Amino acid sequence: MRTIYLNGNYIPETEGKISVFDRGFLFSDAVYEVVSVLDGKLVDFNGHVQRLARSLSETGISGAPDTSSWLEICRALVSRNAVEEGMIYWQVTRGAPQDRDFVFPPADTPPTVLAFTQSRALADNPSAQRGLRVVTMPDLRWGRADIKTTQLLYASLMKNEAIARGADDVWMERDGWITEGSAQNAHIITTEGVLVTHPLNREILHGITRAAVLPLVAQQIEERRFSVNEAEQAAEAFVSSASGFVMPVVQINGHVIGNGTPGSATVQLRQAYIGWARHTAI
Ligand code: PLP
Repeated sequence: MRTIYLNGNYIPETEGKISVFDRGFLFSDAVYEVVSVLDGKLVDFNGHVQRLARSLSETGISGAPDTSSWLEICRALVSRNAVEEGMIYWQVTRGAPQDRDFVFPPADTPPTVLAFTQSRALADNPSAQRGLRVVTMPDLRWGRADIKTTQLLYASLMKNEAIARGADDVWMERDGWITEGSAQNAHIITTEGVLVTHPLNREILHGITRAAVLPLVAQQIEERRFSVNEAEQAAEAFVSSASGFVMPVVQINGHVIGNGTPGSATVQLRQAYIGWARHTAI
């Protein structure tokens, strides 16, 4: 049984108790992070802790652990659960007032702070050999996709719809322009050999993996919107995320990308990213 962290305590996963009035539960009034673990070490810890700080400040949630406390929590959980490879999930909610109310509770209400580990093979992932099939669907999420909140219902609905249609995942689009995947940033490499990726604005999450991957790219990079049609005609396509690293996409809306197997630039980029991640993990 896993040991989890909840509000200052390390406890068995079955013993965690959270109030029914917790705002994370009632309002999705909560932000989160997912940090991957390779060789028992934390990948890009600083990137994730900085983005959490931004999500907390954009939502005005206060009282969360500081950087050194997060490091201590993560290392304690990795060690107690003997995680060699996998993820650590962190969540901070605006806490639990005495009743349900749209108005925020008093500022001294302590946040609910949760962290748990998930052991999983990440580097040796069969999906990376096969590549993903994605289908596009309208991006009907709220207009602040740059804040990593736990309001994941729409992305979850669309991912399940994609699977029901025989694909692996969804790429969302606004007015015909690809924004991102259910829980990944979306990228293409054009037939001219240019890597195109959505610019950082409020329409996408500012991926920590995206930020680490772009400096490793050998191709020219254009940070601009790309259309569903341009994606379907791309030479290569891939997604990036903390748990999937760089994951090839081999089909978009039934259009075969390249020859239907992971593209060579994508495969190289995945290796380069995993090498960088192992080298810099703490
Ligand atoms: N976009 C969305 C909507 C996500 O949920 C995620 C990760 O969960 C990403 C992109 C990728 O971000 P990161 O590389 O920081 O994991």
